[in-house]
Amino acid sequence: MGSREERIGLNEAVFREVNERIEDLAEGFALTSQPLDLVCECGDASCRERITMSHGEYEQLRSESHRFAVYPGHEATDVEAIVERRDGYDIVEKETGAPERIAEQTDPRAG
Ligand SMILES: [Zn+2]
Repeated sequence: MGSREERIGLNEAVFREVNERIEDLAEGFALTSQPLDLVCECGDASCRERITMSHGEYEQLRSESHRFAVYPGHEATDVEAIVERRDGYDIVEKETGAPERIAEQTDPRAG
């Protein structure tokens, strides 16, 4: 434990959990027609950037265990690759091996 890829992977998992709570709250208040105000899901624990996307875009993102949404420029290209550039955020996909495994094991929607 304690490798760079593990540290990044676990930080991303924490931010993903935060965004899952934000989405839950939005659903609870029936705010699903409004864009979600989310946190950047990069591997930097001190990151405080926000990203915005529609509910549909968020659901599409979460359907893939290995994908995270990050503020432009916050990707860690040694452990993940940018697969899509959107308005205000980029989608990264974890590399196979340890980064992918961590993303799967921490997926709140898996299993
Ligand atoms: Zn970030």
